[in-house]
Amino acid sequence: MKDKYKIIEHEYDVVVVGAGGAGLRATFGMAEKGLKTACISKVFPTRSHTVAAQGGISAALGNNGEDDWRWHMYDTVKGSDWLGDQDAIEYMCREAIPAVLELEHYGVPFSRNEDGKIYQRAFGGMTTHFGEGTAQRTCAAADVTGHAILHTLYQQSLKHEAEFFVEYIVIDLIMEEGACRGVLAWCLDDGSMHVFKAHTVVIATGGYGRCFFSCTSAHTVTGDGSAMVLRAGLPLQDMEFIQFHPTGIYGAGCLISEGVRGEGGYLTNSKGERFMEEYAPHAKDLASRDVVSRAITMEVNAGRGIGEHQDHAYLHVEHLDPEVINERLPGISELARIFAGVDVTKEPIPVIPTVHYNMGGIPTNYKAEVVTLKDGNPDTVVPGLMAIGEAACVSVHGANRLGSNSLLDLVVFGRAAAIRCAELIKPGTAHKPLAEGAYDKALARFDRLRFAEGCLKTAEIRMNMQKTMQSHAAVFRSGDTLAQGEQKIADIRASFADVNTTDHSLIWNTDLVETLELENLLDLSLVTIAAASNRTESRGGHARDDFPDRDDENWLKHSLLWIEDNKVKIDYRPVHMYTLTDEVEMIPPKKRVY
Ligand SMILES: Cc1cc2nc3c(=O)[nH]c(=O)nc-3n(C[C@H](O)[C@H](O)[C@H](O)COP(=O)(O)OP(=O)(O)OC[C@H]3O[C@@H](n4cnc5c(N)ncnc54)[C@H](O)[C@@H]3O)c2cc1C
Repeated sequence: MKDKYKIIEHEYDVVVVGAGGAGLRATFGMAEKGLKTACISKVFPTRSHTVAAQGGISAALGNNGEDDWRWHMYDTVKGSDWLGDQDAIEYMCREAIPAVLELEHYGVPFSRNEDGKIYQRAFGGMTTHFGEGTAQRTCAAADVTGHAILHTLYQQSLKHEAEFFVEYIVIDLIMEEGACRGVLAWCLDDGSMHVFKAHTVVIATGGYGRCFFSCTSAHTVTGDGSAMVLRAGLPLQDMEFIQFHPTGIYGAGCLISEGVRGEGGYLTNSKGERFMEEYAPHAKDLASRDVVSRAITMEVNAGRGIGEHQDHAYLHVEHLDPEVINERLPGISELARIFAGVDVTKEPIPVIPTVHYNMGGIPTNYKAEVVTLKDGNPDTVVPGLMAIGEAACVSVHGANRLGSNSLLDLVVFGRAAAIRCAELIKPGTAHKPLAEGAYDKALARFDRLRFAEGCLKTAEIRMNMQKTMQSHAAVFRSGDTLAQGEQKIADIRASFADVNTTDHSLIWNTDLVETLELENLLDLSLVTIAAASNRTESRGGHARDDFPDRDDENWLKHSLLWIEDNKVKIDYRPVHMYTLTDEVEMIPPKKRVY
């Protein structure tokens, strides 16, 4: 096989796979510390999905009212429905303040208050005094915060001497004796194949929203890094927890940020009722996302949905001052005009819950090191492998992520990865040669897909998968629909053996790119639906009709999922119910009050 493909070899101290917010923050952090760093990305860095983030990034700065990082921590633990690891959450909420100020110094053009400080808006689930008041904690650059942050991080990366390999797609990890030694990648532009040797590989490949039919994420969000981890025989964690954003534009899926409700927007049903007052009398329209998504679904199920099919809700901002809309929400006005044909200053926006975020992913500790369950130790570090951003499950979001905590997660743990690598790696340390045949399997898989001569089109299999996930692993789940879904996904995944790749070239072969991505999505769908079927309780984003209550006695634990012989193997890791310092107390599970 090696004779068929000319392989170009590279050696780096660190290779970061992915150039979204997490990947870029890690990349220049590594370079800053003198580590020879490569960043590989299948799209141009500023096209990564982070660019689409609208609402903002959380940090208890207290610019628009009192705040404290301990309240932020409390909200995050509670928002996670107690599945979040409290040591990691403490680390993130405490580090949030310096992390956001650092972004300000790097040049992120945040919106400002009259006094010149960063403007902060209210977001769902963010409170003061441990649940008493409403916190304004989300730092925003109008409604294009991700765009502002990603561009600034890319500029910082260029300032340091990190090397970029853009429009290279990583195929697989190179593993030897349980340790990661590098990656195999394909350059889309000239068709060349590359082996990158590294003392540490950092996976920052984002989420896998594209398993579903309706999602807010970009077409490139296909969980490649997470699937590589499964293929390396390592587990993924908490894959059953998927966040539905309550306000995707009906029919298109595009996101209307929670910032809209933070600025005073509210939801109504077909009777014109503000139904959130019923479901969450306290937090109302700013209740956390799982609560609002379920409320919309319940209104629809009760026959109070809007439109011809009575299947969506209205989001109103027309009562707000047009100047506020213009200044604070210009992006969503444009999205609503283009995708729903609505002038937001005059009419409500039709919205529906849409897949938005993956809480599950590659298990790591708060230093960004990948961990696995080995010989009874659930925190065994996998040498040479790190994961950050949406691809990782630290787990700071537990069963449900609070809005604006993901952009924070990216920069805090991107930075943590750089700090840890600087502790572990001496710049310029020599590389051992790779074992004979170290990446033969990965290359053979690539070659097999390139010349796949079955009779099913990639797009056909993908549509089957997306429709099945949408109807069998959606906002409400039950044992029966999940069991049917598991069988269907297993069959669809098996049908991939019959895929057909029409284009066999190596240059800009999007057919092959999509086929590689589909294989990744199929593995992720398989473990997601198996995990959802296995967890017989309701917690955070995982709502079971047949098990409506949270069950801390049996289920206060992380799921771990492997694929072995085409079957999903399930085991568990304990939740870290302890804090990092004694500045805060452990927050024990309580019944949620909405
Ligand atoms: C529409 C939208 C709005 C959002 N708004 C907010 C918000 O306001 N606040 C908030 O906190 N969160 C928000 N989120 C969530 C947050 O933006 C994402 O979780 C986060 O941006 C993910 O960042 P990332 O760095 O992990 O991955 P991404 O930004 O998705 O980047 C992934 C990177 O990996 C690369 N990659 C992937 N596979 C490969 C491969 N095989 N080979 C090479 N490179 C690869 C890609 O090229 C890309 O550079 C939003 C999400 C969406 C979809």
